[in-house]
Amino acid sequence: MEVMVYSENEKLFKELVTAAVQLNASKITSAVIGSKEDAEKAAKYTDKAFFVDSSQLGEYKPKEYAEALHSIVKASDPQVLLIGGTHKGNALAAILSVKLGEPSVTEVSELKVTEEGLIVLRSAFGGVAVAEVRVGRKLFTKVASPKIACVKPGFFTPAEESKNGEVEKINVDVKSSIEVLEVKKKEAGVGLEDADVVVVAGRGVRKKEDLSLIEELAKILGGVVGVTRPLSADLHWAPTWVGMSGIPIKPKLYVGIGVSGQIQHVAGIRNSKIIMVVNNDPKAPIFEHADYGVIGDLYQVVPKLIEMLKS
Ligand SMILES: Cc1cc2nc3c(=O)[nH]c(=O)nc-3n(C[C@H](O)[C@H](O)[C@H](O)COP(=O)(O)OP(=O)(O)OC[C@H]3O[C@@H](n4cnc5c(N)ncnc54)[C@H](O)[C@@H]3O)c2cc1C
Repeated sequence: MEVMVYSENEKLFKELVTAAVQLNASKITSAVIGSKEDAEKAAKYTDKAFFVDSSQLGEYKPKEYAEALHSIVKASDPQVLLIGGTHKGNALAAILSVKLGEPSVTEVSELKVTEEGLIVLRSAFGGVAVAEVRVGRKLFTKVASPKIACVKPGFFTPAEESKNGEVEKINVDVKSSIEVLEVKKKEAGVGLEDADVVVVAGRGVRKKEDLSLIEELAKILGGVVGVTRPLSADLHWAPTWVGMSGIPIKPKLYVGIGVSGQIQHVAGIRNSKIIMVVNNDPKAPIFEHADYGVIGDLYQVVPKLIEMLKS
């Protein structure tokens, strides 16, 4: 069984290789949209790396990149295609799925191959449940079209270099109707995914200036600050937010300050090792998910917490 892996994210690419190994793939190939050097790097982890020169395509555009990926897939005909479950990866998978007429499934955390085909575990209902899904039947009889699974970051150990695979360039003739004029990087919220400590401010924080209190606490704990969606999407206090539709996090310590604990937020923090919260409403749903909870006014509790931690 050939398993092809693709991710624009290097760490996630290595995680996909481990997932492919765990699927007992007899051949692991990689799809690269980048330079020859990128493909040579990928070939250190896989039996063969196919690449489309990204200079032909320009900046990431879902339709064009999916077209390139489609050409690579057609060149090798893997039975399973594992795509890194980033925003970009999920978008590519959806387009590819339509092109190939094959199912694709997102939010995957575990995979296995049985006589029934490819079986995956994926988050359902915003992360409150785990669904076991069979991704199409007859995995081995319909060789030309792979089953597509978008694997979530952080569920497999990144693979080490172990191969010296060959590299093959795939030529594509992709015409784009979109011209990217400028790309701006998000300047804040950086590091949330990998932080060991994340202190999240919620709507309980009344004014933007009060975020300094949360920043001070985060600094003492050696962590970074995140916010809930309303603080970012509605109030524009931060460029991004923590949660299902924002950035899912998995720190050793999550501290939620004035966060109510709605399901869309909780879905993005449930992989935190320790959850500690401060909320003045004893009925706030966040307490159901907390290891430690303080019922109280954040404007009294947080300064005390800072004082205690300082001493
Ligand atoms: C499709 C969709 C996707 C979404 N995705 C996300 C997501 O990814 N991430 C996300 O965060 N949200 C998301 N949301 C929004 C989500 O439903 C909630 O609205 C949001 O999480 C609530 O944010 P909050 O807890 O900051 O605010 P609130 O729900 O208003 O809670 C504020 C809390 O602060 C407490 N509080 C008030 N004053 C104090 C005080 N002085 N001291 C202590 N506590 C105090 C209150 O008791 C309350 O519990 C999504 C919504 C939708 C529809």
